[in-house]
Amino acid sequence: MKKLVQVFLILITQLNMAHAQPGNLLRDTHENLNAVLWLQTSAEYKMITTSLYRNARLAVKLALLKPGLSAATEQIGQNVSGLPPAIIVDVDETILDNSKAQALSVKKRGGFELAEWQKWVRSEQATPIPGALEFLAWAASLENNITIFYVTNRSVDVENATRNNLKKFGFPLKDGIDTILSRGEFGESKKTSDKSSRRKYIGKNYRIILMAGDDLGDFVSAEGGPEQRVTTANEYKHFWGERWVVLPNPSYGSWERSIFKGKSHDADKLNAKFNKLRCFK
Ligand SMILES: [Mg+2]
Repeated sequence: MKKLVQVFLILITQLNMAHAQPGNLLRDTHENLNAVLWLQTSAEYKMITTSLYRNARLAVKLALLKPGLSAATEQIGQNVSGLPPAIIVDVDETILDNSKAQALSVKKRGGFELAEWQKWVRSEQATPIPGALEFLAWAASLENNITIFYVTNRSVDVENATRNNLKKFGFPLKDGIDTILSRGEFGESKKTSDKSSRRKYIGKNYRIILMAGDDLGDFVSAEGGPEQRVTTANEYKHFWGERWVVLPNPSYGSWERSIFKGKSHDADKLNAKFNKLRCFK
């Protein structure tokens, strides 16, 4: 027994030494560290999002010249000419930056926790994604009377916090109509993140001229694994950059969930990710 304790103590000491030495093989890190750091610190991310929103102005101008065109697959076959124009944007990582909440989970070496997320949302501390506010303010100021809809998978019970957070920075919100459509608000189950029914609802009265999001689900309903998602996205390749503005999000999203779908334990999720890597042989 004494011997066992001695061996254990030696092992612990070695582990601590390994941690203390630079260039050691034992790393105490988190898989989301690089992604979150990139979002928070890189010049490149700011350049990308600003460029995308700057180019989106051209897309809006072109769409306004083509009254029969829609950016929503839900409006395919619908006569949209004559309907007032609308833009649909997702909220998280499309127009608001939640990387501080992500950073906290990296520091804690943890995963997504709903209670922590709701606490963050209620703090109303999310900041605008570079370029987003300028673009939406510009679009709302045009004489074409474009309505901006915020279609988010934040839940209805935190909609006031979302509204306050958007108001704080001056994101365009129309008086008299609810332009923030949260998860579960329009008939669909609170559990589903599918936004199709909300797009349909908007499409009854508006021509959707442009959509912006960081997740394939912000544009079209997408099921299945990574390969199926790419196939679905490819069906609408002609929409990319012209009717759909796609923001980068390497930190989280349905791209990630599609890899570990059906698994609930962290170790199993991580394993599924490692198994999905394509390596040089
Ligand atoms: Mg999002």
